Amino acid sequence: LFISFEGIDGAGKSTHIDAVRLAFEATGARVTLTREPGGTPLAEQLRGLVLNDPMDAMTEALIVFAARRDHLKQVIWPALARGDVVLCDRFSDASFAYQGGGRGCAWSTLETLEAWVQTPPVAKNDADSPRPIKPLLTIWFDLPAAVAAQRLTSARIPDKFESQPQAFFEKVAEAYERRAQEDPTRFARINADQTIAAVRSDVLAALVTRGL
Ligand code: C5P
Repeated sequence: LFISFEGIDGAGKSTHIDAVRLAFEATGARVTLTREPGGTPLAEQLRGLVLNDPMDAMTEALIVFAARRDHLKQVIWPALARGDVVLCDRFSDASFAYQGGGRGCAWSTLETLEAWVQTPPVAKNDADSPRPIKPLLTIWFDLPAAVAAQRLTSARIPDKFESQPQAFFEKVAEAYERRAQEDPTRFARINADQTIAAVRSDVLAALVTRGL
């Protein structure tokens, strides 16, 4: 079972991932909690480059997808093979949102990278060609960019992305919206402009609705 968590910076994602982890652990499930960009030593180094160094949009996309390949091979595919519940703080929708919507990388290029990077290696004598992996469920913390901007000013030292103007986050939010429209059964849209308790209960309800 593979679940990803998405949303613009300031949407409150990290607060709620832990509640989901606890909910699964309470059922006796083994949980692998991980994040992108990152999740392996190599991918964490690539995360540092993406978050700190200026680069063009395509370079950035190639780096986040390279990090994703390493993360899939080292962590996500083995965890799924063991039967773990994998909870991932951001996955490929973030590449469409940030590198696509935010930085202007072509959607079709990102789709090509997604198909390429997220397809598992073919086993010899395997008749069916494997399909690219996607989360079974994506919990999307939807928050207006203006509200997110207000939350972030009072919070932490911004990284390269968090210090972007609000217009950037509006484009990121629109790209999340487009991804959700393209794959409505995978996405659970959560209104993140509520109290933490209300958001938490909506997140847990989204799991229950899907029988998880
Ligand atoms: O979710 P988290 O705060 O850990 O994300 C770290 C930063 O990486 C965020 O500022 C996010 O905007 C950025 N990011 C990105 N491209 C991705 C994933 C995350 O620019 N594909």
